[in-house]
Amino acid sequence: MIKIINRNLLNKIYREIKKHNTIVILRHIGADPDAICSELALRDSIKLTFPNKKVYAGGVGVAKFKKYGNLDKPDYEKIENCLLIVLDVPNIARIDGIDNLKYQSILKIDHHPKLDIKADVEWVDEEKSSTCQMVTELILNTKLKLDKKIAENLFLGIVSDSERFSLKNTTIETFETVINLLKTSQIDFPNLYEKLYLRPFSEYKFIAYITNNLIINENHFGYIKISDNILKEYGVDVATPSNLINSYNFIDDLLVWCFITEDVKNNQYKISIRSRGPIINEVASKYNGGGHKFASGAKVKELSDVDNLINDLSKVCKDYENKES
Ligand code: AMP
Repeated sequence: MIKIINRNLLNKIYREIKKHNTIVILRHIGADPDAICSELALRDSIKLTFPNKKVYAGGVGVAKFKKYGNLDKPDYEKIENCLLIVLDVPNIARIDGIDNLKYQSILKIDHHPKLDIKADVEWVDEEKSSTCQMVTELILNTKLKLDKKIAENLFLGIVSDSERFSLKNTTIETFETVINLLKTSQIDFPNLYEKLYLRPFSEYKFIAYITNNLIINENHFGYIKISDNILKEYGVDVATPSNLINSYNFIDDLLVWCFITEDVKNNQYKISIRSRGPIINEVASKYNGGGHKFASGAKVKELSDVDNLINDLSKVCKDYENKES
């Protein structure tokens, strides 16, 4: 069934944006294309609609995402009483760039299960494919303006978070939103895919390494521990495995799979988990993590915790298979 757009809520969000002269937009740490593209698109749309407002898209920049646009480095000393818009993040601890920011109120737009962010105005919908889908709906259904660059970023965020409309978070509404976006903006979308998927050959060799070394157990749980040496050998960074993990979504030997990457800089293991059935975010939240039902992440310091997480995820697969049979 197609959901009716909640125009009252969208207008309330528009009025909240209109009310504030200074706006800082932030998203989760460890940015991905949906997080980056949603903050850039919303910043650019607000600036286009209200040229006199000061609007900043903050958080740490990621070199490989520079192609989507430049982030701002707002001087927090000079900002007071701003509206903080948080996108694509449910908890304070994972808001990139919130430290030392003095804000008057929070507006939140997100598709993760709710956690501790208490917003003055919020739109949370776990059924949306992406935050970019939500920002698209907001722009197309209010007086916020759209241009080609904004539309391109929104399209890319939706395509990325839905893995080209192939994940379970894709709905009729996702397609409806994208059709409206394409009709309104007339962007040359087939040529945009390169921005998301063009990779150096060394990264394909890294994919081959993961494929050859993924351990799949009797419960159809797959995992791999990726050392810092391997990252160096293939010339990839610590975020690369999470950018590749969705590509393993159509392997029928796998129910749940998990990439555990050594993060030397932060002295921890960065973990990405995906599922084709069992719910995994409850396990992730036990290990300093969280996320969606079928796409989660975690961070642990000790190898013993990595092993505990592997056992827990394997058990989740076993229980799921027992229930299904
Ligand atoms: P990733 O595997 O990094 O792409 O993350 C998948 C999902 O899990 C995203 O929605 C992330 O926001 C979420 N996530 C990843 N790492 C963490 C973490 N340490 N804590 C909470 N949520 C996380």
